[in-house]
Amino acid sequence: MQDKAVALVTGANQGIGLQIARDLVSHGFTVLVGSRDFARGQAAAGDIGQDAHAIQLDVTDQASIAEAAGRVRTEFGRLDVLVQNAAISNKSKREGQSVQEYAKTTRPSNVALDEMRAVWETNVFGVLMVYQAMLPILRATPGARIVNVSSGVGSLGRNADPSFTYRQIFGPVYPASKTALNALTLAMAIELEPEGIRVNAVSPGYTRTNLNGYSGTETVEEGAREAVRVALLAQDGPTGGFTGKDGQTIPW
Ligand code: NAP
Repeated sequence: MQDKAVALVTGANQGIGLQIARDLVSHGFTVLVGSRDFARGQAAAGDIGQDAHAIQLDVTDQASIAEAAGRVRTEFGRLDVLVQNAAISNKSKREGQSVQEYAKTTRPSNVALDEMRAVWETNVFGVLMVYQAMLPILRATPGARIVNVSSGVGSLGRNADPSFTYRQIFGPVYPASKTALNALTLAMAIELEPEGIRVNAVSPGYTRTNLNGYSGTETVEEGAREAVRVALLAQDGPTGGFTGKDGQTIPW
């Protein structure tokens, strides 16, 4: 086992994940930059520095996940932090189509099941598959923790409030995938509580990335901040939480 703490960030070749990887390296971690395209992961890791290593990881591909877990075990022998960041916002939104227009075509009444399944495959089932594969390594690492990158648009509490800004785009595809991710987060936290492995969900806020065609208002540095804060919480810190900017609690 290597001495330095190890973090794995899924979908870290760009956007918020890349910034989380960068920040964790600056906090002294060896960071595994998960990327479904290995070459893009290598470019990202090279850009971060020598404590970043690319790892091929497609969260929808069981074989890729198993191979990545094998690499973490044999090459590093520990996993202190797992950041489940990889996600997609849609499968077939048309070029130039606004989020509002896309939302109208993906209501519960008219959503294409394939569209919903594709997004849930990455954002929900992918997270569960990575969790199951990495858990034995996390369990063998004292003080391990998991951070799931969710979104405030998945909050049932917020969407139940008629004044919530993003209520009109709450639908079965991306927003509900994050609601399901929140449910998984709580289930994981409950499962791992007796073992002291903390599991929390965070929302980065509306961040300028590829996910939203760079329409976000926050920088990736701002978007990564809460995930990094939660990844670094003390060993007796909270578990089963959902927080956003400055550690503010978001209703499930
Ligand atoms: P992004 O720039 O599009 O990055 C998403 C990352 O996930 C990319 O690296 C992408 O890889 C990867 N990914 C997608 N499918 C994958 C798969 N099957 N296997 C492995 N990696 C996969 O978006 P982002 O904004 O940084 O998103 C990061 C997280 O923040 C997501 O969980 C998102 O839901 C959440 N979030 C973002 C915002 C926002 O405003 N941006 C707000 C709330 C929550 P490729 O480069 O290969 O596509």
